[in-house]
Amino acid sequence: MGKTRRKRRYLKKNGCLPPTNNEKIVLTSRQLENLITRVRINQMEEDGFYRKQIQKRLNSNPTTINKWGKIGFDNPRAFLEGVRTGRPEVSRTIEKSVLRKRTNKSFNLRKTGLQLNISHTTVKNILNDAELKWKVRPTATKLTVNHKKQRLKFCKEYKDRDLSWWDKLLITDSKIFLLSGGRNPKQHGRWVFDSEELDLWEVDKFAKGLHVYGGMTSKGVSQLVFINGIIDGERYVNEVLPILIDIQERTEETDDVTTTALFDDNDDWIFEQDHAKCHDANITQEYLRENVPDFFNKNEVPAKMDDLWCIERIWAVVTSKVYGGQKQPKSLPALKRRIIKAWESLDPITLKKAVHQMPIRMKEIMNRKGNRIGSFKEHCDCPSCVE
Ligand SMILES: [Zn+2]
Repeated sequence: MGKTRRKRRYLKKNGCLPPTNNEKIVLTSRQLENLITRVRINQMEEDGFYRKQIQKRLNSNPTTINKWGKIGFDNPRAFLEGVRTGRPEVSRTIEKSVLRKRTNKSFNLRKTGLQLNISHTTVKNILNDAELKWKVRPTATKLTVNHKKQRLKFCKEYKDRDLSWWDKLLITDSKIFLLSGGRNPKQHGRWVFDSEELDLWEVDKFAKGLHVYGGMTSKGVSQLVFINGIIDGERYVNEVLPILIDIQERTEETDDVTTTALFDDNDDWIFEQDHAKCHDANITQEYLRENVPDFFNKNEVPAKMDDLWCIERIWAVVTSKVYGGQKQPKSLPALKRRIIKAWESLDPITLKKAVHQMPIRMKEIMNRKGNRIGSFKEHCDCPSCVE
């Protein structure tokens, strides 16, 4: 058998070339570390451990275990080859500059790779190694068992309230509108350590956009409040709440959602907000205790009820009016004008239907044992909704 043919057969059988004599193998420290892990995996496999057990003991992931479980000691050559195919180490300087650059507004894998003369995959690997994750503001986060329990409890308590009770709610929430529209959400992601960092960046550093607060009842809407920068309890109490709850002048029912009376009785209504940090702040809770007839305090309403509160649906309507069927707004003032226009043109029946849908949604949440509702088409059949 010729030399080349023997080589080829060896390659076919073992997945690598046969060793040449006197070849020196140089491993980097990371490769050596990998080698040790891999030896341990193989040892444990031979000792009859299950993959799950190995995974737990080595604090490793299933892919690694699988990969290295397949190449055993009886093929030391393939074993070493495998170790050496690990990606090359990059210098600390390059790592540092990648990590520094990730905070730039226009950070981009390809561009950064070109600047540093490394491939975009390497840039990505550096970010992954630093345990940074590509995160996009989630539209809905996962529910834990406890969330579901709290949701069920809350729904059980309120599902049978009649519509006149639901008409007493002022439901408020904030929304971020970006200049770039909701068009390509992937572009709105960032390399961050956790979601909290994403929240800060989204409003403050990256997004050219607007943060706006609004409130609604089954009859009309509050004024919008636009907020610059980070909001805390104090700013919320001073800049947002007074405007959201300013309804004293609104005593007559009109066709205009922005001026019509929001409640049958301005001294008998309930303020609702979700669980942002500034909403649960002591100063905020104190302010509400003194300034609104009634409100859900921070312990009364569970978190993650976004599929219940109807203002989410209303923001969706506003969003589609702001971005839909036209070019993206060119400037923040233009975006602001569009948001206000969309908000003020909300249809009273849409509002009423959204509010009256909440008790039906509560029942659905209970049907689903606390799980989140996806799209939901059922509507109230009271005379004003059916009209
Ligand atoms: Zn109705």
